[in-house]
Amino acid sequence: MISTLDNRIELVEEKLLQACKRAGRSREDVQIIAVTKYVSADTTKSAVEHGLKHLGENRWQDAQAKWQAISGDAAPNEDGQPVWHFIGSLQTNKVKEVIGKFTYIHSLDRLSLAEAINKRAAQLGIVVPCFIQVNVSGEDSKHGLEPGQLFDFAAELQRFKSLKPIGLMTMAPYESEPERTRSVFRALRELRDQLRQSSPLYEEIKHLSMGMSNDFEIAIEEGATWVRLGSILVGKEEV
Ligand SMILES: *Cc1c(COP(=O)(O)O)cnc(C)c1O
Repeated sequence: MISTLDNRIELVEEKLLQACKRAGRSREDVQIIAVTKYVSADTTKSAVEHGLKHLGENRWQDAQAKWQAISGDAAPNEDGQPVWHFIGSLQTNKVKEVIGKFTYIHSLDRLSLAEAINKRAAQLGIVVPCFIQVNVSGEDSKHGLEPGQLFDFAAELQRFKSLKPIGLMTMAPYESEPERTRSVFRALRELRDQLRQSSPLYEEIKHLSMGMSNDFEIAIEEGATWVRLGSILVGKEEV
């Protein structure tokens, strides 16, 4: 079956809406990031033309040409320009390239990275909204802080004036039965709630970046405010 972008978007919208309904949440509280790492620059452009405004990439080496083709010549804040989200593990030596091009960073997981982002952002005169990545599941293969490190880390971030933590991010293990991811998403929500209750300083840490193609409906039921959707939404191509 050939599935067009229109069909895919419609399918995702329907699932998303149903998940919001089940959780008594409003559709406007959940935003979609179209993860374009598996598709070409042309498909990415077409996704933007179909109204997918937020794009996610996880490796600068792979994203570079795509970013250049789509946003390289655009004026900042130009109408119709997508907003880029960096969702993969970010090497400190790529910060200089990525900051200023990607608006949001979803993978803040160490102080040395915070320092580098803050320094680059200050040079550019911008403030970079970041998600703190937490390894809730404890899988070795996953990046992120251990849950027990989160409070100290959030306190340390207060000294960086050009970086603004706005939420938490996690990746659940792949499960053939998506229901099994629920405890991971729930734990991230509870961490966020505990953090915000601990001090008014953390009031702005309110977003939850969680849920991918396989498990986004569960993530939404557990409070996701940003879902990161690749294969189910824009497909997968040989590129
Ligand atoms: C690839 C990727 C996604 C999207 O994956 P799909 O399963 O195709 O939806 C989401 N988040 C991160 C961090 C990724 O690397």
